[in-house]
Amino acid sequence: MKAFITGGAGFIGSHLVDTLLKNGSSVTVYDNLSSGNKSFIHHHLKQKQFTFLQADLLNLNKVTKELQGHDVVFHLAANPHVRLGETQTDLDLNQGVIATYNVLEAMRQNNIKKIIFSSSSVVYGETTEPSLPETYGPTLPISLYGAGKLGAEGLISAFCGTFDFQTWMYRFANVVGARGTHGVIVDFIEKLRKNPHELEILGDGRQCKPYLYVSDCVDGILYGFNNSHEKMNLFNLSCDTTTTVTRIAEMVTEEMGLNNVLFKYTGGIRGWKGDVPRFQLDAEKINTLGWKATLTSDEAVRKAIKDVLHANL
Ligand code: NAD
Repeated sequence: MKAFITGGAGFIGSHLVDTLLKNGSSVTVYDNLSSGNKSFIHHHLKQKQFTFLQADLLNLNKVTKELQGHDVVFHLAANPHVRLGETQTDLDLNQGVIATYNVLEAMRQNNIKKIIFSSSSVVYGETTEPSLPETYGPTLPISLYGAGKLGAEGLISAFCGTFDFQTWMYRFANVVGARGTHGVIVDFIEKLRKNPHELEILGDGRQCKPYLYVSDCVDGILYGFNNSHEKMNLFNLSCDTTTTVTRIAEMVTEEMGLNNVLFKYTGGIRGWKGDVPRFQLDAEKINTLGWKATLTSDEAVRKAIKDVLHANL
């Protein structure tokens, strides 16, 4: 298989690259390094089966040219920061929707019809449901990042309907682990390295979400791709437990060997405007297909803290 991976120099993408190469695929990474890091793929640069292209998806001609000869596209490139939409209101429109359109149009011009997409739990918005299945609707995101993901899902679905594409779309839980560059764990560790006596926690600390370990995420993506053969394959990708933000703070301080850290909450039920404070994803659909996360949410968080602290790449 000749795989084209947008965002392949990023956190999740680079782990996917490792696994695909190990499984014998050829891999092209297309990444502008806006939030990715070349060191994450450095160990592959001399491999014959591997090509790295530093380029932007907003350049349609370039993507169209480079896509030639591939069998399948794993589209992971996007702005990864949910919060940035508050200050850059066109970011997710460009990096989420327009970039996805360019990928699809470039595929159409090259007659490539299989696309795997990294969507997110945030497409569901803020709901009162205890656990969200893929059939939940209406999907009304409350962040511009979520709107970008839902817009991208819509475009992919339309290319399936209009041009006979086939897709595997995954709505991820919060993904954590080695090479993590953003999110609550990285934020807490950075703050505590600066000041080990107190920790600012956004919100009231009771925000409660599922955390999925990155190797489980990659495994789930490939499991669905290899075992589900509908035209539209939509899956939640999550473990079935959750972790609160305060529990993450406790685990980070434990793993850093810090005692008596003062937790200073900024207050309110959410970390920032657009943050969905509590949710659980129902992963029964992919569980029934035969995939299950190997780590619970707390285990994933604990392992990711160790990875980030010890910079395990
Ligand atoms: P990441 O920032 O590490 O990876 C995104 C990659 O895309 C980066 O390497 C970046 O340089 C690249 N990129 C961004 N815009 C680009 C463009 N215009 N052209 C080319 N490359 C571009 O983030 P990640 O956490 O690995 O996320 C990967 C995907 O999974 C993203 O689509 C993200 O929205 C999605 N996702 C992540 C999580 C999570 O918890 N990490 C949860 C849900 C969904």
